[in-house]
Amino acid sequence: MLELINDILDLSKIESGKMELNITMVSLGKLVHETLEQMAGQVYGQEIELLAQLPDKMMDLHTDEAKLKQVVINLVGNALKFTEKGKVTVTVQVDQESRQPERIDVTDTGTGIQEERLETIFEAFQQVDSSTARKYGGTGLGLAISRSFCDLMGYELTVSSEVGTGSTFSIILSNGKTGDTPPPDSN
Ligand code: ADP
Repeated sequence: MLELINDILDLSKIESGKMELNITMVSLGKLVHETLEQMAGQVYGQEIELLAQLPDKMMDLHTDEAKLKQVVINLVGNALKFTEKGKVTVTVQVDQESRQPERIDVTDTGTGIQEERLETIFEAFQQVDSSTARKYGGTGLGLAISRSFCDLMGYELTVSSEVGTGSTFSIILSNGKTGDTPPPDSN
């Protein structure tokens, strides 16, 4: 219930244009590790591995840390929810020369999503069907909020999936609005 209320508040804030960005210098490596540590309890005792694949060296990102983290938590949460066994991997890819982060992929070996549903899952309250909600819980708002947060930050949220094999949700950072601007002064 609380989750639903928070989700609806987030969505109405986004829709009224009142959601503001708080841009700082963010270490993506730290963000990914913290997120996975936070979620490790969810795979305890299950046949699922939760992994991070990070480049040796990467530049910090000028971004809204709380919002980007909320998106990653949502994607990893979904990946874990729809994967009975196998792996959930968070991969960060960087530009080979500049070492600027280009994309974050969350890949799972779960149920996968039918092709005709790949766009509607980003709409508010869309779940595969009502039995999905009963079996897996959730508000059906997570991806709508995640996509709106990504839009706000100038990122793209995409998905590719195959039923029975798994899904990859990608946050494409490379054309982010927040990438080249220095963080604002704190005063
Ligand atoms: P919720 O997870 O609360 O139902 P979301 O907006 O996060 O809402 O997701 C919408 C729907 O998209 C889910 O109900 C599910 O049907 C589908 N989905 C999202 N992520 C995955 C995934 N990793 N694997 C399979 N299906 C997914």
